[in-house]
Amino acid sequence: MSLSDMKSLLIAARSKRFAVGAFTVWDMESVQAVVGAAESLGLPVIAQVGPWEADFAGMELLAEIVRHVALRASVPVALHLDHGENFERAMKAIHCGFTSVMLDVSNLPFRENVALTREVVRCAHAAGVTAEGEIGMVGGGIHSAESSGEQPAMSDPDEAAQFVEQTGVDALAVAIGNAHGFYKAAPKLDFQRLTQIAEKVPVPLVLHGGTGIPEEAIRETIKRGIAKVNICTQFVAAFGKAFREVQTRPDFANNVPKLFAEPRRRAMELVIAKIRLFAVRE
Ligand SMILES: [Zn+2]
Repeated sequence: MSLSDMKSLLIAARSKRFAVGAFTVWDMESVQAVVGAAESLGLPVIAQVGPWEADFAGMELLAEIVRHVALRASVPVALHLDHGENFERAMKAIHCGFTSVMLDVSNLPFRENVALTREVVRCAHAAGVTAEGEIGMVGGGIHSAESSGEQPAMSDPDEAAQFVEQTGVDALAVAIGNAHGFYKAAPKLDFQRLTQIAEKVPVPLVLHGGTGIPEEAIRETIKRGIAKVNICTQFVAAFGKAFREVQTRPDFANNVPKLFAEPRRRAMELVIAKIRLFAVRE
């Protein structure tokens, strides 16, 4: 089937109280692992590309790979720009055929965040593309491999409601104690804050930094309104760990199946476990 827009996937997920997994992709193997996992469970999935992956592989090529795989997939697949850092990046993604874009200028003051996000939302909607914004700041930087667990600024429920109303975003990333990368200590999520945000905000909510959050806590956030969970570091790490292991095996040889098949399989297993976790309904 053709690439899905992200909005309809998230609205359906929220109404059924589960979350769609969003996994970072950067090449053929990562895309096959993500979509293959979703197909094995018969559930939708989001392939997402951040600025690092976009600069590493090229947005056009990644969009082509995801589109090729999605067209032949038995489940809905959305292609999302994660943490787009400026207007130009978001427009490039739309031009390349992404079905969803995030502008993350949450480091800027509220009014500037609103003004810049609103402009991206306007262009995205004109192209039939979903838009995600962020209010408050998720800790750990966009791509840190390890997080201190510190939250630069938690999302304020009233500000979140104003932000959604004034920008028209279709999905909102919240900062509730979550951070990117692996955590040094278990994160303490502010569940009450999440419930307050969900009560005031009419659009699906997004949890960034899903890598190091314990399963119980993930389930709790989904019960309270999270409809999309982002996984990046843990997925990349699944490839990295498997690459190291296969190279120490006595029968290892430098040929494509011996080097690449096992890491792709192991990464797919991780995605299956995550999609299962996000799909659990109480
Ligand atoms: Zn993020």
